[in-house]
Amino acid sequence: MKFDIVTIFPDIFASYFGESIIKRAKQAGAIEIETHNLRDFTADKHRNIDDTPYGGGAGMVMRVEPIFNCVNAIKNQESGIKNQEKIRVILFSAKGKRFTQADAHRLAGYDQIIMICGRYEGVDERVAENLIDEEISIGDYVLTGGEIPAMVVVDSVTRLLPGVLGNDQSAVEESHSEEGYLEYPQYSKPEEFEGWKVPDVLLSGNHGEIEKWRRKHSKQN
Ligand code: SAM
Repeated sequence: MKFDIVTIFPDIFASYFGESIIKRAKQAGAIEIETHNLRDFTADKHRNIDDTPYGGGAGMVMRVEPIFNCVNAIKNQESGIKNQEKIRVILFSAKGKRFTQADAHRLAGYDQIIMICGRYEGVDERVAENLIDEEISIGDYVLTGGEIPAMVVVDSVTRLLPGVLGNDQSAVEESHSEEGYLEYPQYSKPEEFEGWKVPDVLLSGNHGEIEKWRRKHSKQN
């Protein structure tokens, strides 16, 4: 899976993508992540990526032209994915469709995901109208930019790719692996801490009873 992130803050990502499962997935070749500095796709000497909104109003809007240039450059990369149907272009937006685990599974079926991170008051609507396949929101709140949503998509999709998690079952039994399913409570050593006890059944060694307890304590929303 190739992830391409279009952003004006490419340095934001190194720390998160340089640790843990994402780092190992990169090293194993399961994923490749490339960030693209939108300012590299401007034609003016000030490398402007934003301008004032038509009709007036507060703040600045990200211009369509550099985004158009950047997305085209990514799609036309020599080493890029040739089958356009295996490429998904996403715009992050607080007014997009709410991202769920089902979306993570669906996106894991593509070969390349190109993500456009907005900033300021948002992005010229012609990007949504002409350049993307879907507009995603990660929740009903407003963030400063689309970089955290990009990390959310990279993380949630990567852990679903074959061989990325140590134990493939961990993605199968997780919360949201089925519509409405929330995982049962988990405990580890010690058996008792500050008077707080692990449920007896989990210490019983009776696998049938443990399974029953876990089913009872997992939730279907
Ligand atoms: N003026 C916009 C509005 O009212 O919907 C908010 C713009 S926000 C400050 C700047 C950028 O952050 C957006 O263009 C988008 O890329 C990203 N963003 C903010 N909240 C988001 C969310 N909940 N999900 C996905 N992206 C979000």
